[in-house]
Amino acid sequence: MMKYSPVCNWIDGRPVPFDGQHLDVISPVGGSTLSRVPLSTPAVLDSAVSAAHRVFPEWSARTIKERSQVFYAYRALLAEHEAELTELIHQENGKTADEAKAEVAKAIEVTEFACSLPQLVAGEVLEVSPGVECHVRHFPLGVVASVTPFNFPCMVPHWTIPISLCLGNCLILKPSEKVPLTAQRTAQLLHQAGLPQGAMSVVNGDRRVVEAICDHADIAAVSFVGSTAAARQVYVRAAAALKRVLALGGAKNHLVVLPDADVSSTAANVVASVTGCAGQRCMAAASLVAVGDVEPVIQRVCEEARRVAPGKSLGAVISREAKERIERSISEAEAAGAKVLVDGRGATVRGCENGFYVGPTVLDGVRPEMRIAQEEIFGPVLAILRVRDVEEALAIENASLYGNAAAVYTQNGEAAQRFVQDASAGMIGVNVGVPVPREPFGFGGWNHSRFGVGDITGKSSIAFWTQSKKVTTRWT
Ligand code: NAD
Repeated sequence: MMKYSPVCNWIDGRPVPFDGQHLDVISPVGGSTLSRVPLSTPAVLDSAVSAAHRVFPEWSARTIKERSQVFYAYRALLAEHEAELTELIHQENGKTADEAKAEVAKAIEVTEFACSLPQLVAGEVLEVSPGVECHVRHFPLGVVASVTPFNFPCMVPHWTIPISLCLGNCLILKPSEKVPLTAQRTAQLLHQAGLPQGAMSVVNGDRRVVEAICDHADIAAVSFVGSTAAARQVYVRAAAALKRVLALGGAKNHLVVLPDADVSSTAANVVASVTGCAGQRCMAAASLVAVGDVEPVIQRVCEEARRVAPGKSLGAVISREAKERIERSISEAEAAGAKVLVDGRGATVRGCENGFYVGPTVLDGVRPEMRIAQEEIFGPVLAILRVRDVEEALAIENASLYGNAAAVYTQNGEAAQRFVQDASAGMIGVNVGVPVPREPFGFGGWNHSRFGVGDITGKSSIAFWTQSKKVTTRWT
């Protein structure tokens, strides 16, 4: 018996059951089957795109102030349904209830940013010669798409939903097939908030739907968030079909600890960064780069990590395959010469014996050429690399393929400034291990953590989801 009824696609303002192939939705918390999700065909996508095109003239003709009213109502519904959304996120993703609740708060924050869009897009106008005026107007692109990953079932879809819609576009959402329940509820709540039928559809499925989105002649833009390998494929394929694309990829974030760092706050902050969301976030600490003698910090990191309890303060990882892959990476690093200071392999949680848990893990003596130092592990695993000075630390950080986040721990302002200047990442923390910018500062990395221009939220999202007209006027 499944806890939730089968997920439907949400098309043209109503749930549409799918009579083709489905995939089970498994809860990482206890390994039970929660529901099943359609593996939709391109024909389902076609029906969603047609519905979006039908409503686009009416939705885009409304003023942005009118459209924003839908998001004021939606924001209230998100707050009203916070507990229900928190439970759905916890069940389908496996993160703790507190982490799930924080996601809903972030979705509310981006919705509030969308509510402020009328103030932000208000015009630019200049008299360019006597009696001649230029002004700029922003227009939506048309029907656009957003493809999202499993690790934030609520927050990441909200990076695009309220902003793209409020700017007058119609949206096709393709959530991760691992976490379709929160997305389904989101569509229902948007409908309840007054979004017109067809303005947002949810088409469930796997990479085949994403490929159909990339190739679809009637979709103008694609936003993607997921692993670097998939982001790269989507970027290339959608751009080849002449779409506007922003594709955010994976990460390998370096936290550089200098000898003058405050011991207890640094250790607590590093451990929170590694273990939060079970390490399954693109902003999680992956490598601690220890500059000189920072032994007291490392010792305290180990003590704090041992206190983090799977099933209580540490959520599950997404699947059995993920658990096995993470544990294999730890064993491989050990075989390559790393010393396991804290070992999270084989973790189990009483009452949730079939859940997918990996305990906090700290590996010392990791060298830059090891796989664990280079590849995204996406679990609660910290690799410690020892270096002599800041130059060596920066060289390691700069050599990473990725560039989402980087952080430095120090009490020296000059050293911090230098790190901010020279680290090769889009989001930098100074004594902050998860430097997620709050709105209106947009979210986005560098290097292979992002293909395309601009950030996914914040002011640059306005440029992504709109095209401008420059109007020159003279009345005689
Ligand atoms: P994923 O790449 O496996 O899947 C993401 C989405 O793309 C899903 O909807 C999936 O169905 C689809 N997909 C999978 N493979 C595809 C392919 N080859 N072509 C087209 N579509 C494909 O990612 P995931 O495992 O769901 O999420 C974890 C990854 O997402 C991690 O690498 C993490 O760092 C990254 N992530 C990045 C950010 C960021 O802002 N940079 C934010 C969250 C997650």
